[in-house]
Amino acid sequence: MSKPFDFEIGKLTGPETHSAQKTALYPLTADAFGRGPERGTFFLETFGCQMNDHDSEKVAGVLLARGYRQVETPEAAGLILYNTCSIREKAAQKVFSRLGEYRAKQCEGRIIGVLGCVAQQEGEDIFERAPWVSLVCGSASYRKLPEMLAELEAGNHRVTGLATDTDETFETEMTRRDNPFRAYLTIIEGCDKACTYCVVPYTRGPERSRASDSILREVRQLAEFGYSEIQLLGQTVNSYKDPTPRKMRFAELLLAVADVPGIRRVRFTTSHPSDFTQDIVRAMEVQPKICEHVHLPVQSGSTKVLRAMQRTYTREEYLEKIAMIRSASRPIAITTDIIVGFPGESGPDFRETLSLLDEVKYDSLFSFKYSPRPNTPSLKMADAIPEEEKSHRLALLQDQQREIQKAHHARVIGGTYEVLVSGKSRRENQWSGYTSSYRLANFSSPAKELLGSYVQVRVTGATPNSLVGEHVV
Ligand code: SAM
Ligand code: SF4
Repeated sequence: MSKPFDFEIGKLTGPETHSAQKTALYPLTADAFGRGPERGTFFLETFGCQMNDHDSEKVAGVLLARGYRQVETPEAAGLILYNTCSIREKAAQKVFSRLGEYRAKQCEGRIIGVLGCVAQQEGEDIFERAPWVSLVCGSASYRKLPEMLAELEAGNHRVTGLATDTDETFETEMTRRDNPFRAYLTIIEGCDKACTYCVVPYTRGPERSRASDSILREVRQLAEFGYSEIQLLGQTVNSYKDPTPRKMRFAELLLAVADVPGIRRVRFTTSHPSDFTQDIVRAMEVQPKICEHVHLPVQSGSTKVLRAMQRTYTREEYLEKIAMIRSASRPIAITTDIIVGFPGESGPDFRETLSLLDEVKYDSLFSFKYSPRPNTPSLKMADAIPEEEKSHRLALLQDQQREIQKAHHARVIGGTYEVLVSGKSRRENQWSGYTSSYRLANFSSPAKELLGSYVQVRVTGATPNSLVGEHVV
């Protein structure tokens, strides 16, 4: 899905926010990195999914609480951090080419660190491949960041955090939030599923759910800071298992978050089909604040391929979940992820994926060519699909989905929808935001200021990826 117009507003949230914005909570204990004006500053670049984006928000919070200042370019920073993604090969390659670009910076007294999935996957090998790197830290070890930073400040040039057996979740005193209206909140980390193509169980470790009372405390705090939309995150967000005696179910948690005064929208992603239960649909029916959108990755329309992927459901079982969502008393948009060219995916298997698209008529989808990843069982599977064939299948899939989206959008033209305004175009009177069903709407309005407000937009036109409309005043 495409992004709305860019805007740059940062917000800190946490118990000490206001004092933190004025002064450092914990003055730097040792000589911070960099020799010139870049001393005590950090630059953080993020690759990958929303969970990575949110991890970076928390990492930035930890650094700010320690007295660091965030800067916009690596040139201006004493500490340069890359929060990485290794879900597909291309993403991992990008990180090494980025590290190559900043090789010279170490000579100027800068510290370079690699965080996230590539850090976890490559481990200490990164020090061999890029000896100018001083910190390698996987996402399951972020809780130890303050200690690791202290080690770096003390002059240690090989600091690692690579344990994945932690049963803790990454909760911070302070989070630097990039979006001033929608707050991400991770409720479950890691993954206990074992999809044969996926690195997540290796890079993010086993599933750990956060305590429901702690989640709700943070939601109340976010509402006080003016956030009105909460997005609950997890690789399998609906597999949430409350570790407290309260044992709140995921559907109950959705309702409890929606009940917090000031919260107007609740989203959640990503849902695993096997754990998508009727009570979630019921919660969406009774509570309109829960957005009318479910992201339910299918990966393939062929039961044979789903078995090889170890996805734990058949095509028919997946379609039963779709029927359950479609039977809700409110319309619910459904989006998905699809992998083409998994080892052994025959022409008929691929056509089953195309026929699934026709049957479900997804509102939108993310599609990927299968990418063999280190440590995953599918790496050793026979019958690899040639790259050209993968590209051909991807193009066919995307063409078909484009037509489906055009038809969806044609049906919404003329309707009026509520949009949370999150972007302002450079063009005069042009704004953007998302509907409850997560459709991007670009619209015109003569209003002077709309950012953060909820407005009614009449849809007058559409492209395959977004709606065009006008503000109904
Ligand atoms: N946990 C989510 C789920 O179960 O669907 C998704 C996690 S993953 C970060 C996002 C998407 O990346 C997956 O849904 C899948 O479509 C894609 N993906 C994961 N591993 C892949 C691989 N080896 N090659 C291509 N795409 C992959
Ligand atoms: Fe990866 Fe499967 Fe877990 Fe999703 S459910 S994170 S695809 S192993």
